[in-house]
Amino acid sequence: MHFQWYPGHMTKAKRMMQENIKLIDLVIELVDARVPISSRNPDIDDLGRNKARMILLNKADLAEERWNDAWVDYFKEKGFSVVKVDSRKGSGMKNIHSVIQEACREKIERDRRRGILNRPVRAMVVGIPNVGKSTFINSLAGKACAKTGNKPGVTKGKQWIRLNRNVELLDTPGILWPKFEDQQVGLRLAFIGSIKDEILNGEELAAEFILFMGKNYPGVLAEKYAIEEMEDPYAVLAEIAESRHCLIRGNELDTNKAASLLLDDFRNGRIGRMTLEYPVQM
Ligand code: GDP
Repeated sequence: MHFQWYPGHMTKAKRMMQENIKLIDLVIELVDARVPISSRNPDIDDLGRNKARMILLNKADLAEERWNDAWVDYFKEKGFSVVKVDSRKGSGMKNIHSVIQEACREKIERDRRRGILNRPVRAMVVGIPNVGKSTFINSLAGKACAKTGNKPGVTKGKQWIRLNRNVELLDTPGILWPKFEDQQVGLRLAFIGSIKDEILNGEELAAEFILFMGKNYPGVLAEKYAIEEMEDPYAVLAEIAESRHCLIRGNELDTNKAASLLLDDFRNGRIGRMTLEYPVQM
């Protein structure tokens, strides 16, 4: 399988990131709770040097709760302030403000020692495409003032959203580029839909997903689609096509359609809450 991230986008995203990061005290990094490592770009550690750091396990509603908790511990151990959230529904959001304060305590104390009082903390949300940056900003700001969707660089001119007396948030999220070097990382990002489907073969991707499921969540697909569990992932795909009546011209199995149906079910949480990578392996 072959992945591509257009270099033009990457250069632009990186340049914007480097510019905006100079203005802020706190980096709020969003990761996808289902793939907390694959959805990070480690360059942020370098870009965000000397900044207060926070990690948000977003889409926590789609990942397994016990693994969410394990990932919270994992990142806390690495020195991050961590919160798990579902930005779409808003759950977990009430803890954000206290965690922001906690993450910035050092900075606030340093300001105070220097006699700087009441200067708000300036924060920026960062993450790879599709982790939920805009949704999170909207949810935090409490109104639809940030564009949702996935278009780097649409907002012209910097705007600060005043969250409260102590915190201002840059309305434009910083876009990190996904890392593709590792095939497993690329696959997991494709599973969650962070790499455009057009540049991948849907059936191949679905077959990889079926293999993953067989190994990590045995029996789940069989039950969900009322099919037999089989070794060959393409046979499983054909069974899903049959069970869901994905047919071409009324009689031939449409495995391509079954592939998108399967991935779509997974991405929307209809197969259940699932975590694709675990802190023990990291
Ligand atoms: P961005 O590219 O990082 O700004 O991501 P968006 O905010 O555009 O979100 C990408 C998709 O993920 C949208 O369809 C959102 O509705 C969805 N989304 C964002 N946050 C969550 C969440 O916490 N849970 C779930 N289930 N979906 C979310």
